[in-house]
This record gives sequence, structure tokens and C-alpha cells, in this order.
Amino acid sequence: MTAIRILPPDVARQIAAGEVVSRPLDAVRELLDNALDAGASRIEVELEDGGLTLLRVRDNGAGISADQVPLAPLRHATSKLETVERVTTLGFRGEALWAMSQAGKLRMQTRPAAQLGAAELLAHGDDVSVRRVTAPAGTTVTVSGLFSHLPARLRTQAPAASEVREITALMGRYVLHHPALHWRLSVDGEPRLSHAPGDTRTAVASVYGPLSANRVIRVDRTQDRLQLSGVLSRPELTRARRDRMHLSVNGRPVSLPPELEKAIIDGYAELLPAGQAPLCVLDLTLPPEDVNPNVHPAKAVVALADLSQLAGLLKEAVAAALLSTPLAGPAPALR
Ligand code: ADP
Ligand code: MG
Repeated sequence: MTAIRILPPDVARQIAAGEVVSRPLDAVRELLDNALDAGASRIEVELEDGGLTLLRVRDNGAGISADQVPLAPLRHATSKLETVERVTTLGFRGEALWAMSQAGKLRMQTRPAAQLGAAELLAHGDDVSVRRVTAPAGTTVTVSGLFSHLPARLRTQAPAASEVREITALMGRYVLHHPALHWRLSVDGEPRLSHAPGDTRTAVASVYGPLSANRVIRVDRTQDRLQLSGVLSRPELTRARRDRMHLSVNGRPVSLPPELEKAIIDGYAELLPAGQAPLCVLDLTLPPEDVNPNVHPAKAVVALADLSQLAGLLKEAVAAALLSTPLAGPAPALR
């Protein structure tokens, strides 16, 4: 047995950074969250080689003022978190830019609309530099050579094609839950996904095609402090897989808890053939203090204060939406 020892700082740092950003998908999600937190109305993503060679997210949001730029890549540096009990932004840990600067080469150009010149930050490991440049208002973050100096991380990366598939699916979920923005994803120079501002239905068209968008109905429901809106598929549009059931909580795409997935399917009752799942895009808004996004490193799972109340609301909302819509296809069985 070896004696217990403290890891050298650079090793400890690489391990910690690798927990925040362990693959290109993580970096894209963090950068999308930053762009949304900055109030952007246009978000563009570029990937090369599955994101390992280069990934870039450009937004037209608030930008970072020149004097604050050197602070952005510091660990636990955030302009967002006020209290852990009440999180109102997508980011709050102040670790994403730091982790990217440790895991690859981070380059950020940023300018608030009211500031004349832009700042460019380069950060890689301990090397941080800032200079003045000209750039459009907003922020462009480029991460290149992700894990190129971390052979153990590099070895465990998925092939580029499968990472691109997952990043495309992730971005699709952001589009579905934030349909009022311009979105664009290009992969190795080719456009992969694009969306012009619209509503949830037009986002379904952008992500899954017009045939699906023509087969969804709206859901809107408010109960106490809960507000639910979105779309769900008519019963004739079903899938064997549950991979098109999407939920956001206060704007954050999350994985649908099994209890809520079941509540939605139950809301269809006999309209849905056994073993089939609908397409749905549901946006839930509730007081920030009822949501704890801090239970999962990627914030993909959030703790919701009252799951059973929510399940009841979902089931009722789905049933009511279906009832109020004349449905095509086979008539429901008589009871
Ligand atoms: P967090 O999002 O948890 O605060 P990050 O490391 O992702 O931590 O970002 C650090 C800080 O840099 C943010 O709090 C924000 O002030 C600023 N920032 C990062 N990205 C952007 C962006 N796209 N637009 C404006 N400000 C940004
Ligand atoms: Mg962030």
C-alpha cells in the first residue's frame, strides 16, 4: 500500500475540471446555458471533429464588460448565484469557463452593446491573457484542443459521429424549450439544425419536421404556483420509444422523472396503444425555491418539491387537452 498523499495541484485541477467538462457535450450545454443566462436572442454553435478539435458558441447576449473579463475563467467566479436556496439562472457554480480553460484552450471574445471595444480572453491552464479587439456585441466562446493534453480523457471519448448525434439532440431540446430564439448548429461546416423564432409548434417542426408539428395540440394549465404549457402529440402520432418526451423546469431542459413520464402517458388513457409513447414538449414554471438544480453535476436532474402534485397536474392537463380537441383516427373504445 502506498501512503496517503496530497495530489499535486495541477493533477487535482485536471481531475476537478474533468468532472465539470468530461466530454464536448458538457461544454456545449454549459455554453448554451451561459448564452441563455445572458439573455441572447440568437445562439449559434459550431463543431469540428465532434467538438474535440473545436467547439464554438456565439451569442448576442449581454456580454461581459472589459474590467470583468479576467475574472470569468476563475474557479467559482460567477455573477449569478445569490443564494443556493433560490436559483433563477441556468448557471450558478462559476466553474464552466474555468473547467474549459483547464481541459482545452479557451478563447472568448465579448462585448456589451454599450461598450465600444471588445475584450478577448485566452485561457489555458495557468496562462491567462486579455487584450482589446473589435467584435460584435455579445459573446463568442471557442474551445479548441479539448483534452489534447489529457491522454486518459481523450482515450475514453466517444467517436465524433456519436458525440455529434448527442449534441444535436441536446440542442434540439434547447430549441424546443426556447423557441422564441434564433438557433443554428453547424457540424464540420455543414448546417445541421436551424430554427427561426416561433412557438413550441414551430420548434417541433424545426427539430422533428412538419409532419410531427402538424400533429400536436397545445397544453396550457395553471394550478396554484405551477404553470404548465407546451404541446403534445395527437394519439395518431406515437412512438415505441420515449425519447421525444421533453420537459423543462424554469427554462432548464431536464430528464423527465419516471413518475411524470407515467403521468403523461396515463393522461392519454386508452387513446394510446399499450407500449407506445407520445411526443411532448412541456414547459413547467414554478417558484425557484421549489426546484433544486443542485442535485446533479450536469443539472439534468432537478429535485422538485412536490412530485405527486405535479404528476396529478400533468395527467389532468394532458387529458383535458386531448378532450378539447377533435381527434382523427380510430374512435376510443367504449367503456
Ligand atoms: P456560471 O455560469 O456558473 O456563473 P461560468 O464559468 O459558466 O459560471 O461563467 C462565469 C461568468 O462569466 C458568468 O457568471 C457570467 O458573468 C460570465 N459569462 C459567461 N458566459 C457568458 C456569456 N455568454 N455572456 C455573458 N456573460 C457570460
Ligand atoms: Mg455557466
